[in-house]
This record gives sequence, C-alpha cells and structure tokens, in this order.
Amino acid sequence: MSFDIVIVGGGLSGLALAAELAQAEFSKLRVLVLEQRQSYVRDRTWSYWKTPRSPAHRYSHLERQQWTQWRVRQGERLQQQGSPKANNAGKAACYCTLDSDVFYSSALHAISQSGHVQLRLGTSVRQIAGGDTPSVETSDGEVIRAGWVFDARPPRHNNTSRLVQQFVGYEIKTDRDVFDPAAVELMHFHPSAAGLHFFYVLPYSPRNALVETTWISPASHQPDFAAELQQFITSAVGSAAYEVVYQEKGSLNLSLNHTAPDNALHVAPLGRGAGTLRASTGYAFLETLEHVEKIAMSLESHASRDELKTWVPTAFKRRALDAWMDEVFLKVLERDWRKSPWYFMQLFERLDPDTMVAFLSGKANWRQRLLVAGALPTLPFAAQALSAWIDRAPVVLGARR
Ligand SMILES: Cc1cc2nc3c(=O)[nH]c(=O)nc-3n(C[C@H](O)[C@H](O)[C@H](O)COP(=O)(O)OP(=O)(O)OC[C@H]3O[C@@H](n4cnc5c(N)ncnc54)[C@H](O)[C@@H]3O)c2cc1C
Repeated sequence: MSFDIVIVGGGLSGLALAAELAQAEFSKLRVLVLEQRQSYVRDRTWSYWKTPRSPAHRYSHLERQQWTQWRVRQGERLQQQGSPKANNAGKAACYCTLDSDVFYSSALHAISQSGHVQLRLGTSVRQIAGGDTPSVETSDGEVIRAGWVFDARPPRHNNTSRLVQQFVGYEIKTDRDVFDPAAVELMHFHPSAAGLHFFYVLPYSPRNALVETTWISPASHQPDFAAELQQFITSAVGSAAYEVVYQEKGSLNLSLNHTAPDNALHVAPLGRGAGTLRASTGYAFLETLEHVEKIAMSLESHASRDELKTWVPTAFKRRALDAWMDEVFLKVLERDWRKSPWYFMQLFERLDPDTMVAFLSGKANWRQRLLVAGALPTLPFAAQALSAWIDRAPVVLGARR
C-alpha cells in the first residue's frame, strides 16, 4: 500500500496538518494518518496568549473562553494585570482557552469531508524507515510506503535529570458561587526546594473552573498531585461542595533538543518533536498551528505526486535569541528553586501588561526583551547569560556550527 504523505500520530500537530491537507487544493494527494488511540475524547485544555496583532487561527471560533484580566500570587503578595484597552479594531490582549475535543471534532470533520485524506485509528507505528521512498511499519507488521512521512509521535526521553513540566488538572463544579470569572489565576506560587510549584485556575464561571497543580522540576521529583489539588481546592472553595467533572494530566520534557526534517530520508518531525514546545512555558499550541499552516502553504505549489519529489517541508524555527533567553531563564530558576517564584512576581510587578503578554506569547520585540532583562536581578542572570552565550554564541549570532 502506498500514500503520498503519511502522518504518524494524530494528536494536535498530526490532525491539524491532516485538516490543512484536507482542503480541495490538495485533492491530488493521498494522505494517511495513523493514530494509536481508538477514539478521541477531551484530554487537554489548550490555553494561549493573544495580542491585538495576533492573526486568527483556523480554530479561533471554537475558543471556550477569553480573559482580559490575569493575576499571580505568592502568599499575601498579589499582582493583577489586565489588558489596558482595546486597539482601534476593538481588539485587546487576552488569555484564551480551547478544549481539545472541540478541536478534534473540527479536524475530524474536515478529514471526513475530503475524500483524499484517511485516518486509521487503533494503529500503532513500530518503525519509520527513511529513504527515497520512506516506509512506516505498524505493530501488526504492515508496511506502508510514502512520498513523505511526518513523525508526530511525542519525543522519547529517559534521562531522569532532565527538566519536566508536570501537571494534573481537575475541572470542578461547585454548588455556590466561588470563583471570579473576570480574572485567570496564572500562577499561585507555593515555593519549594524541589522545583517551581504553582496552582493555576481558569474560572469559566462563578461555579465552574479548571484548577491545576504544576511543577517545573527534575523528572526525578514525583509530587503527590491528588493530595495537593485536594488541599488547594478545599481552601479555595471553602464550605462549598464540589464535583470533579473532568481531569487531565501532562508531563512535558523541557530540555529536549528537537530534530530537523531529513530531506534525503523524506522524514520530517512534527509537533513537539519538531521543537514547537517552548521550554520556559511548556506551551506549544499556537506554534504548532502556525507550523502546519506553513507546511501546507509550501506544499501548494507541489501538490501532486510528481511535484512532491522536489518538495522540502518547512522546518519549525524558533528564534535562536528567544531559545537562548529561555535557556538562561530556566537555568537561573534551577539554581535555587525557592527563589524562582520571586522572579516571576518581579516581572509581573515591574512590567506593563503589553510587555508581559508579548514576552509570555514569545512575540517580544527588542525593546520588550530589554525591559524583561531589566526587570530581573542582574547578577544571577548575567552570570548565567554569559555562560550560555559562550556555549551558544555561534547559533545566536546566526553562524553555523
Ligand atoms: C494535558 C496537557 C495540557 C496542555 N496544555 C497546553 C496549553 O494549555 N497550551 C499549550 O500551548 N500547550 C499545552 N500542552 C502542550 C502541547 O500543546 C500538547 O502536548 C500538544 O498536544 C502537543 O501536540 P503534538 O502533536 O506534538 O503531540 P500530541 O497531541 O500528544 O500528539 C501525538 C499523537 O501521537 C500518537 N502516537 C504516539 N505514539 C504513536 C505510535 N507509535 N503510533 C501511532 N500514534 C502514536 C498519540 O496517541 C497522540 O495522539 C499541553 C499538553 C498536555 C499533555
């Protein structure tokens, strides 16, 4: 059996690319998605920042909620920020959220309407072999040939000293008003020597919120998520009764090097394997959608079996300077986890909301990057920056290694 494009892994990146390729201009291509899960259910709540200049993405209309106020907190210290005002087009910076089941349904609908894109559920891929005609071997031993293979499986990791972002979230409903739906609680810090620990609250309504406990720490640290969440929720809801209506959990490797597409082998990474996850935040949603859109645009002029031979898919690129700043930031946090909440509090206290949103969304300009650097204590960051600069200077300056 052979296809023009085989996508291994139908999660966010794999399904988003398949939905792009389901459009009529790609109808000459035969596309196959192989996904190990049997069915799609809600398993993630994707949140992201939007600045007034952010372009809408294909799934913007499916957002569950937007907030223009956000806060961070440590003990009695509370910092609340809000998008100051809308721009001329009536747009303000906001924090948005979209449930994964809604995304999955939309992408699956596009695929089912196309006629040239197929999705096979319950199919686990054992191996991908690159070459002039790359192939994919399923765990049943079936071999499928392709023009290009996109590998959207999560990258493997087994080094226990790596940094991970681990979290567990419960969406709860209460029997009386408890939450303030006007403002997201981005980080409610609980300082610890084992890692950066905070709670996160997305208040959908006064009686409905997603509450998460999050750790950025070495992977060897194993928090008791259930106990932490129960304690935090009990103190947040007081005497109100609550029920858990949905749960999610994640463990994201923050120290992975990503791989580039191998043009000779016709195998390209997609999603987290391509480097879409930002190390300092664990966010990947918008970067993933932007990347698959670029891949589809570059394919428009090669959208037939013959033209595919000369096509080179667009690689995901993060600006080296931003990657370097993230690396420095994480290394400073790691030096003394107990101080790490303080750095975040400083940033929120000293920076205006526009700069903060630009920084958090990875869209900061030079002026805003300097403001961020100026809001952080000079000594630890300068020492770490110098050591990371010596290591990465050729990359940051754009030279080849
Ligand atoms: C619970 C959770 C919440 C998150 N929240 C946010 C957020 O708020 N904002 C944000 O920006 N990012 C968030 N992320 C990070 C990131 O956006 C997601 O992890 C996103 O799903 C990554 O997309 P992906 O395509 O790389 O991987 P995935 O969406 O995980 O897709 C990988 C797919 O590959 C399949 N697969 C794996 N192995 C095989 C195999 N051998 N054969 C066939 N199929 C296989 C899996 O079943 C899966 O469907 C979150 C992550 C998690 C886990």
